[in-house]
Amino acid sequence: MNDATEIQVEITPWKYDAQFVYSMTYDEGTIDAICNSFPIHEEHDIPGHVCTVSGHLGQQRLERGTSMREVFYMNPEQLRFLIGKGWTISSHSHTHVPTDQDGIDLDLEVRLSKWELEKATGQPVRLFAYWGNLRIADKILPVAQAAGYQGMLSIGYPWNTSDYDVWDIMRATIGRDLEGWLQEPSASLYRHTRDAFPGELRKETTRGHWLVDISHIVVDRLPAANGPGLWNRCMTPSILDARLREVRALWGNELWATVPEDVVEYTLLRRASSVAVTANGSDRATCTVSLNGLRDDVTARELTFRAQTPWRNATVNGRAVSSQMKDGTLVWTAAVEDGTEFVLTAS
Ligand SMILES: [Zn+2]
Repeated sequence: MNDATEIQVEITPWKYDAQFVYSMTYDEGTIDAICNSFPIHEEHDIPGHVCTVSGHLGQQRLERGTSMREVFYMNPEQLRFLIGKGWTISSHSHTHVPTDQDGIDLDLEVRLSKWELEKATGQPVRLFAYWGNLRIADKILPVAQAAGYQGMLSIGYPWNTSDYDVWDIMRATIGRDLEGWLQEPSASLYRHTRDAFPGELRKETTRGHWLVDISHIVVDRLPAANGPGLWNRCMTPSILDARLREVRALWGNELWATVPEDVVEYTLLRRASSVAVTANGSDRATCTVSLNGLRDDVTARELTFRAQTPWRNATVNGRAVSSQMKDGTLVWTAAVEDGTEFVLTAS
């Protein structure tokens, strides 16, 4: 057709064409998640994520030689409460045995842990979170893949790009400045700490990324048995509140703040999908979605599309799809299956 209009269409890296994606995770799953973190998450409308230890549910952590002592893990009822509020749970092993020991039973730590947590919560457990150091990471990987996880939360430089590896999702503590505390350790809790987070979260350097933030305990006062090594991996309620506030304030409606599973499922769906212009005329164009090789256990079906087009409307099966113009492109989010056709028209 001579007067066909040139159009280009693509699936956006993140849902809703978000320019920044944020998830907050808590390793261990201690009870402060309910009394301290949860109300703050509710206030900012950002769900949280707990990486918990299936063999320790409801118990107090007393082992010597660990970096965290005298704190209680949540029990199954408490986990289910958070799940009912939109939170999600991943496995952080069954026993949290030190990873520098030999002879670790990975079938227990990785596969059975998934089963135990699913039984305790009544929900699928889709992610595994490495515990300890990464010394045995390459041994855990095939066990986690065979056990049916969809991905793994790892440790590393925390800004995930859209081509991140679902089996190596970066997380790192964006540290608190503890220098003042170390000079006066007996007197201070977080009085001397300054959160480095607002300084790190700059639009120029983080646009397009997914940050999986991490904390352990969220309290004003850690049990005295815990030393400085733990301080920098925890935060106070006021630091958490300031972080979530900052994320929303900086990114506004360009933010997608959600649990890690939502992001992984969007990614798996996006990577199994493609979209192409299959018909193009003077007043309309058709874009067809192909879906190929999607894992059976992925439940997400919505993708976001962005099209360079002179037209402002998208329909599927004759029904209008909610869409908006952003910087001269048409953006819409809709459910897809293999063969879904979007028709773009002027009116
Ligand atoms: Zn841990």
